[in-house]
Amino acid sequence: MVVKAEYIWIDGAEPTSKLRSKTKVMPDKDEISDISELPLWGFDGSSTNQAAGEDSDCVLKPVAFYNDPIRGWPHILVMTEVMTPRDMQPHSTNNRAACAEMAAKHKIEECIFGIEQEYTFFDGIKPLGWPDNGFPAPQFGYYCGVGADEVYGREIVELHLDACIDAGLAISGINAEVMPAQWEFQIGPVAAPEVADQIWIARWLLYRIAEDYGVSATLAAKPVKGDWNGAGAHTNFSTKAMREDGGMEHITAACEKLGTRAMEHVKNYGADIEDRLTGAHETQSWDQFSYGVSDRGASIRIPWQVSIDGKGYLEDRRPNANCDPYLVCKLMIETICDL
Ligand code: ADP
Ligand code: MN
Ligand code: MN
Ligand code: MN
Repeated sequence: MVVKAEYIWIDGAEPTSKLRSKTKVMPDKDEISDISELPLWGFDGSSTNQAAGEDSDCVLKPVAFYNDPIRGWPHILVMTEVMTPRDMQPHSTNNRAACAEMAAKHKIEECIFGIEQEYTFFDGIKPLGWPDNGFPAPQFGYYCGVGADEVYGREIVELHLDACIDAGLAISGINAEVMPAQWEFQIGPVAAPEVADQIWIARWLLYRIAEDYGVSATLAAKPVKGDWNGAGAHTNFSTKAMREDGGMEHITAACEKLGTRAMEHVKNYGADIEDRLTGAHETQSWDQFSYGVSDRGASIRIPWQVSIDGKGYLEDRRPNANCDPYLVCKLMIETICDL
């Protein structure tokens, strides 16, 4: 038997990194059962904005692996970190290493995350299903809608959901979004950096599955200008103390801390965030900070159930769909647990 291992990494594209992958055929293997069986590998960093041509090698270090739902068992998807070849240090584009370090430092607080990844299907230059000239009916019936006049791309969305489940990801749901052709999946609750590993793998699966339909899934923060919702990656967060009786006090304290470093967060939450966080379309303005119960116009929302229970979690509504979840998780732990 052979195992086909798809090594996946995050490139150096500016201002938003993209995913890359290539296949390693591992002969004489029946199955991979431990990460230590997966060797380091290399790639041409001069083609990914991660190295100069005359010194082009970068290293791929496996950090997690999943069932490959496309090729099937025993094939696998391998999440990797990019390292420098000479000293085996995290490459400047590698945000995972710092995220893992911050998470390890605060392991005792038992931080967990649920990330809501929104995305938009495109057919060429227009959102999938949109008319060639003009616009669909104004936003209203699309969110969690049903029917050929309300939703576009469900076949891909269903295949993606099954693929995430088969891969072993902690996918917790999907829904059609407010703008037609826009959708969401949620991963979590899971600790960092694993939650971010899984978001990147789920993104890869989405692109890969949509590829077979000639459709591109995009994470642009404001894919259509005007009176159309942007795409975010709401990041739900809790510590053990927030989840236990008396947790509300810890949730409020966390919101106050997040308010002291609002700009630091916003500038690391994805490209074009000013276009999305306008204060309209269920957002707070990027240069304002607020938190509140059930408030979809706040930077941080405390869900109503949480306020009734007096414990639970908070939702940071600011991260863009195109954020690097490693950066978002690292910053949230740093601000809430490290300050
Ligand atoms: P919304 O109402 O904002 O659309 P969703 O249902 O889409 O919320 O997403 C909520 C996310 O929060 C899910 O991924 C869920 O797993 C996660 N979540 C639930 N409880 C917690 C918790 N205690 N800590 C962190 N994340 C949580
Ligand atoms: Mn949601
Ligand atoms: Mn949403
Ligand atoms: Mn949300």
